[in-house]
Amino acid sequence: MRFNQWLTQRIEKTKEAGLYRELRTLSTAPQPQRIVNGKEQVVFSSNNYLGLAHNPILIEKALKTLQEFGLGSSGSRLTTGNTEWHEKLEQRIARFKKTEAALLFSSGYLANIGVLSTLPEKGDVLLSDQLNHASIIDGCKLSKAETVIYQHADMNRLEQKLKETQTYTRRFIVTDGVFSMDGTIVPLDQIMKLAKRYDAYVIVDDAHATGVLGKDGRGTSEFFGVSPDVVIGTLSKAVGVEGGFVTGSKMLIDFLLNHARTFIFQTAIPPLSCAAAYAALDTIENDQDKRERLLRNIKIIKNRLEAMGFIVYGQHTPIIPVIMGEAETSVRFSEKLQEKGIYAPAIRPPTVPNGESRIRLTVTAAHHDSQVEHLLTSFKDIGRELEIIS
Ligand SMILES: *Cc1c(COP(=O)(O)O)cnc(C)c1O
Repeated sequence: MRFNQWLTQRIEKTKEAGLYRELRTLSTAPQPQRIVNGKEQVVFSSNNYLGLAHNPILIEKALKTLQEFGLGSSGSRLTTGNTEWHEKLEQRIARFKKTEAALLFSSGYLANIGVLSTLPEKGDVLLSDQLNHASIIDGCKLSKAETVIYQHADMNRLEQKLKETQTYTRRFIVTDGVFSMDGTIVPLDQIMKLAKRYDAYVIVDDAHATGVLGKDGRGTSEFFGVSPDVVIGTLSKAVGVEGGFVTGSKMLIDFLLNHARTFIFQTAIPPLSCAAAYAALDTIENDQDKRERLLRNIKIIKNRLEAMGFIVYGQHTPIIPVIMGEAETSVRFSEKLQEKGIYAPAIRPPTVPNGESRIRLTVTAAHHDSQVEHLLTSFKDIGRELEIIS
C-alpha cells in the first residue's frame, strides 16, 4: 500500500507539471488512414516515411523467412542468435551507406547507447548538440568521457567549445542528422571541417535521414558528400521495420562487436526483421518514386502552410513543426484537428522551449493528395478560428 501511495504522489506531480502521458491504441496497419482509439484518423505523425511498414513485398519476404527461421532469434549475436540473415543485412547496410562495414543492434536507441558508452573513454570529451535525441543524451550519461553541450547547430559555439577542450585526449562531436523536434538538417559539411581543423571525431545519428536525405536516400553523409567517423541509424523509421545499426570502418565495427555492451548482452533481432529490412533497402535504392513522392508531399505542405501565414520550422525533411506559441493553443489546435479526423500531436515545454509549442506534423510517401488537401484545409480553418493566421 505504501508503495502505491508513493507512486500515486509521484504521478500527481507529473500531472501537475503537465507531463502526464497516456497511450493511444491503433487498431489497423500503419497506413495513413488508421483507427486511433476507436476513431478513424489520418495520421500525420508516423515515422513510416516511405510507407514501407505495410509494403506487400517486404511482408512477403518476412513471411517466407518466418517459415524458415521461426520467430525469435533465440540468442545474442555472439552466442546462438547470429543467422545468415543478420550478416547479409549488415553487408547490405554497409553497401547502402557506402561504408566498409556495419553492425546491427536491436534498436537505434541501443546503437547510440552502445557507441557512446564504449567509444569515448575517460579523459575524452563529447561535444553534443543541445537538441540531440534522448538516446544520445543517455549514451553521453553512460560514457566515462565528459559531455559539453553546444547550442543547436551553432557552428561558432561549437568552434569555441573545440578551442576550450584542447586538453582532452580525444574529442567527439555527436549530433543528430535531422533533428526530431525542429526538422533541421545538421550542417554536417561545416562540422566535418571543424573536426578536421581541431582534430576531433564525428558521430552522426541518422535516424530520420536514412532513406530520406541525399540523392539516393543514403542519409546526411550523401546529402553533404562527407564521411563521418561513425554513422548510427535505425531500421524503424523510413526502412519500416525495426532494429538499429552503426556504420563505419571495419576496425570500428570490430571494436564495437567486442566492447559495446548493448550489442553483446542483447538478443539479436528476429531473422524475419533482417530479411524485411534487407528488402526495404533494395526498394529504397531501386525505387526512387517513393522518395520523390515523399519530397513532393513535404514541399506542398511546408510551402502552403507558410503561404497561409503559419510559422514552420526546419528544412525540407518529413518533420514539419508548425509553431502555435502557447501550450494551450497547440493542445486546442491538435484537438480540433482530431475532430476533423486528423491525428497530429501538440508538442509542449519542456520538450520544446516556452512560447514555441507546436503541432509536429510528419508526412510520408503514402499520404494521398486528398489527405494532404484535407490537412491543409483543416489547418487554414482552425488557424483562422483560433486567430493564429488571418
Ligand atoms: C527514433 C530515434 C532513435 C531511436 O531509434 P529506435 O530504432 O526507435 O530505437 C534514435 N535517434 C534518433 C534521432 C531518433 O529519432
